[in-house]
Amino acid sequence: MPPTTISDLGAAQDPAQPTGRPRTSPRILLLGGGSLGLYAAKRLRRRLAHREASLVVVDPRPYMTYAPFLPEAAAGSIDARYVVAPFHKALKGVSTLQGKVSEIRHAERRVQVTPVVGEPYWVTYDHLIVGLGSVARTLPIPGLAEEGIGFKHVEEAISLRNHVLGRIDLASSTWDPELRRRLLTFTFVGGGFAGIEALGEVEDMARYAVRVHPGMRTEDLRFVLVEGSPRVLPEVSEELGGYTIEQLRKRGIEVHLSTFLDSCVGGHVKLSNGTEFESDTIVWTAGVKANPVLSNSDLPLDAQGRVRTNAALQVVTEDGVVVPDAYAGGDCAAVPDLVSPGQFCPPNAQHAIRQGTHLGENLARVLRSADVRDYSHKNVGAVASLGTYKGVAQMLGRFKVRGFLAWVLHRTYHVFAMPTLDRKLKIMAGWTATLLFRREVVALGSVMQDPRHEFLAAAVPETPAAAKTVQDAAAAAAAGTPAPGVDRPAKRPAAKRAAAPKRAKSGNATGRAPSAASPASTRTS
Ligand SMILES: Cc1cc2nc3c(=O)[nH]c(=O)nc-3n(C[C@H](O)[C@H](O)[C@H](O)COP(=O)(O)OP(=O)(O)OC[C@H]3O[C@@H](n4cnc5c(N)ncnc54)[C@H](O)[C@@H]3O)c2cc1C
Repeated sequence: MPPTTISDLGAAQDPAQPTGRPRTSPRILLLGGGSLGLYAAKRLRRRLAHREASLVVVDPRPYMTYAPFLPEAAAGSIDARYVVAPFHKALKGVSTLQGKVSEIRHAERRVQVTPVVGEPYWVTYDHLIVGLGSVARTLPIPGLAEEGIGFKHVEEAISLRNHVLGRIDLASSTWDPELRRRLLTFTFVGGGFAGIEALGEVEDMARYAVRVHPGMRTEDLRFVLVEGSPRVLPEVSEELGGYTIEQLRKRGIEVHLSTFLDSCVGGHVKLSNGTEFESDTIVWTAGVKANPVLSNSDLPLDAQGRVRTNAALQVVTEDGVVVPDAYAGGDCAAVPDLVSPGQFCPPNAQHAIRQGTHLGENLARVLRSADVRDYSHKNVGAVASLGTYKGVAQMLGRFKVRGFLAWVLHRTYHVFAMPTLDRKLKIMAGWTATLLFRREVVALGSVMQDPRHEFLAAAVPETPAAAKTVQDAAAAAAAGTPAPGVDRPAKRPAAKRAAAPKRAKSGNATGRAPSAASPASTRTS
């Protein structure tokens, strides 16, 4: 069946029912509802009445993620639900289509959307805004695709938290020292902002979890940072980068600079400096690249796969000729940085949010026949948390702050940048509650079971044949295929790999509570 074409707004809300009615107002289609898309849509809605333009956001997620808070979400300092801004709250008066853009045909003013469920369909538009962001920049390192965990989305932050806490639980229940060491070895690859903050926050949480865990010691934990360049946090001065390394080392974190991950097949990590160890957790935060779906478009791209724009955020050809009705910004666009001539704006939220607002303003001006304005933003600084009460910050390029004050700056800056008032208030309430009642370090969903297994066992009558059906169903669930006699296969949980230790070498890493004679309890006695 050929993909459906949606050409009016009513149909956009009901993709299955296309109609050929002509639009009464221009449609602005926003690809991606992230930092750029959300702020562009908000500004456009504020500037333009419904009769002046209809707005449609396409995104596979029904929310925008405020990524700078992901490390705190992974550490449980912020409830993961509050680091996202749901479109139904943040984007009043804007239609949304949940699905992935799979092709862009700007010459024909149409975009193909592949919904999570159902057939792909086409959406037509009059003006296009591209804010498709970036994806993890990976390398063909043996074992990375199988073992690595990304850190760009809230789902990954939740999964990492459960994974780490689950490993601590499992380690406390095993008698095998090698397995225990492997379970408690956490490797982070990439020393940029995302990697350092994720490492700092997660280590802080793990340290706390181990302290409150009967029979565990903080010395049992091994956190390893691998960074290819000779320094970390390139966004701040060398001095602050050096201070960061010093702080991490003081906490017992192993830092390998000018070192690359060579291989991690089966969790056996090999570094370019000859170091080798077993690690059950490999977090990959070594940079990003523009969303690869852009290569399936007729928009002009640069050598790095980013959409070319001018300083007014209009899409331009290689020769600088404006492509009519197309705008782009954020991580997926090469936007000239007027503050640093000859360079492009770095991929960060500071720029993406401001570009979104600026882009919305420019497009509203175009629709009212006014001139567009160039985007220019001088970096206000960089703030990074290294865990509770610890941080580094460099403000206005000159003022260097470290420790508690930097951490306060980090939280203050980001909570004000977080979209929607209720999110800001809920995050602050959460911080206050943690201060009063300490943090929660319970792993949810980390038990070595399919969450549907128990229900399935209860739902299928207990006969030998039925028991086999349950086993078949469980096996089918693991393989992702339907089992005979069961209507729907039990779904593999998203965090499945987080749920069970791979290659458990002894039969005692079962997740059951350690007996009084378990090594964990013996060690402390
Ligand atoms: C862990 C982490 C920490 C960070 N910390 C900071 C920080 O402290 N300060 C800072 O300034 N920046 C930080 N950043 C970077 C910042 O978050 C990004 O630069 C910023 O979000 C980019 O905005 P964007 O709109 O271009 O992309 P995004 O915000 O990523 O939005 C892209 C959107 O496109 C959607 N999308 C993807 N593919 C498709 C598709 N095929 N079809 C439709 N929609 C699609 C996504 O679901 C998403 O909603 C951090 C990033 C990470 C990952």
